[in-house]
Amino acid sequence: MLHNPMRFAHFIDNETVPADGGESLPVVDPSTGAVFAQIARGTAGDIDRAVAAARAAYRGPWGRLSATERGRLLRRWADAVEAHADELAQLESQDTGKPLKQARADAIALARYFEFYAGAADKLHGQTIPYQDGYTVLTIREPHGVTGHIVPWNYPMQIFGRSVGAALAAGNACVVKPAEDACLSLLRAASLAASVGLPAGALNIVTGLGPEAGQALAEHPGIDHISFTGSTETGKRVAIAAAQHHCPVTLELGGKSPQLVFADADVDAALPVLVNAIIQNCGQTCSAGSRVLVERAIYEPLLDRLAERFAALRAGPASMDLDLGPLVNRKQQQRVWDFLSDAQAGGVPLMAQGEIVEDAPAEGFYQAPVLLRDVPASHRLWQDEVFGPVLAVQVFDDEDEALALANGTAYGLVAGVWTRDGGRQMRFARRLHSGQVFVNNYGAGGGVELPFGGVKASGYGREKGFEALYGFTTLKTVAIRHG
Ligand code: NDP
Repeated sequence: MLHNPMRFAHFIDNETVPADGGESLPVVDPSTGAVFAQIARGTAGDIDRAVAAARAAYRGPWGRLSATERGRLLRRWADAVEAHADELAQLESQDTGKPLKQARADAIALARYFEFYAGAADKLHGQTIPYQDGYTVLTIREPHGVTGHIVPWNYPMQIFGRSVGAALAAGNACVVKPAEDACLSLLRAASLAASVGLPAGALNIVTGLGPEAGQALAEHPGIDHISFTGSTETGKRVAIAAAQHHCPVTLELGGKSPQLVFADADVDAALPVLVNAIIQNCGQTCSAGSRVLVERAIYEPLLDRLAERFAALRAGPASMDLDLGPLVNRKQQQRVWDFLSDAQAGGVPLMAQGEIVEDAPAEGFYQAPVLLRDVPASHRLWQDEVFGPVLAVQVFDDEDEALALANGTAYGLVAGVWTRDGGRQMRFARRLHSGQVFVNNYGAGGGVELPFGGVKASGYGREKGFEALYGFTTLKTVAIRHG
C-alpha cells in the first residue's frame, strides 16, 4: 500500500468537496491489487447537496444559456478532454486495469461525445401540428431539469460522455454517481469542464458506494430523470426507487449478444472481429459478442481458427498494453471463475485458452481468455452474462435454428450476422430481437452517432446518437386558440 495515496473529493458546484461523513474509500489498481488512491465516501447528505447545486444552476445561469451557448461550452470541453487525453487515459488505466491504448481510445471517445452533442444542442426542434381552424398547436422539447446518472466501471468515460453530453446539450443539470471502482477520470474530466467555463452546479459528481450514494440518488425526489447502466438486478432496484417519485428512467443492462456466421460469410473478415468482440476490455463490455453461432458446414474449420487465435492471446498489466488487462476487481474475477467451474462441471468442452504473462503480479485480477465449444443452450454460460473473456460457441443447421438460438436468452442488446446473402441479411436484421443489429461487422467501431439500448432484460430507452436527446427531454404540447 502507498503511504500517501492520492485523495479525491466530490465535485459539487465546480468545487472539490469532502464527504459529508468525512469517510473515504480505497482505490485499488487491478493490475497489482495495491491501493493507490482514496475517494470520498458519499452519503445521502452529499447527494442532497449536489442535487441542490444542480437545481440552483438549472434555475439560474446554466438554465438561462441558449442552446447555442450550451453547444459552444460542450465544444470547448471536447477540446480540453482531447488535449488531456493522455492524462485521462493514465488515470483510467490504473483505476480500471484497461490497457493504455484502450483507455486512450475511451478518452478520445469522451471528447467525441461532447463534440457530437455540442453540434446537436441547437438542432433539437419541436413541431407545429395541423389542428382545427382557429388553433395553432406546437410542441416544445424541454429539459427534464435535474438528471441523475449512475455510471458503471467498465467504460466510465464513454458512458459518462454519452449520458452527460446529451443531458447537458438538452439543457439539464446533472448529478453523477460513478462506480466506486472507476471515479478518477470522471473527476478529472469535471475539473476540465469547470476550466472551460461550465457554470457552477451544471455538473456534479458524488463518489461512493452503490447502495449508499447510488440508492440515495435514485430515491431523491429532486431528481427528474435517471440514466442507469449496469446489472439487471441493480437496474430493477433503481427503477423501483425512481418510480416512488414518478421519475422516468433509462436502463442499459448488458446482454448475451450473439454473432451468427453462415457458411457463405467472409470468414477472414469475421475472425478478428469475433475475437475482439469478446476480449475487448477483458470481456467486461455490455455489448460483448459473447456467443458465436456457426453454420455446420464451416463449424470445425472456424473453431480451429478461433482456437489458434485464442491460444496466442496474452493478458497482463494495463501498462504493458497487451491483448487484455486484468478484470476490474476480485469480485468480478470470482464471478468469471464460478462460470468456468460450472462449465467444467457441466462437461462443456474447453477448446482453447490464452495465457497470463509471467510478469503479471500475483495479486492482480487476471483471467486468460477462454474458448468453449458446443455450449448447450440450457447452460448458464449460454444464457447469462459472464462479463469476462469467455466465448461460448454452438453449431446450427438452418436459419430457423440459428434464429431460435440467437433470440433464446432473456437479453436483447446487440446481435451480428455474417453472410453474403442479401435476403438473409435483411431477414436477420428484421428478426433478431435486439436494440442493434450489425451485418458483416460488429459494433461499427463504437458509433457515437448510433442509437444504443436494448429490449427485454437488456433494458429500455436509448442513449447515444441524436435519439438520446429525446430521452433527456420531455415534450410539451401548446395549443393556442386564436380564432
Ligand atoms: P451494478 O449494476 O451493481 O453497478 C452499476 C452501477 O450501479 C455502479 O455505479 C454501482 O455503484 C451502482 N449501484 C450499485 N448498487 C446500487 C443501488 N442500490 N442503487 C443505485 N446504484 C447502485 O454492477 P456490478 O458492479 O455489481 O457488476 C455486476 C454485473 O453487472 C457484472 O458482472 C455485469 O454482468 C453487469 N454490469 C453490466 C454493465 C453494463 O455495461 N451493462 C456495467 C457493469 C456491470 P458501485 O459500483 O459503487 O456499487
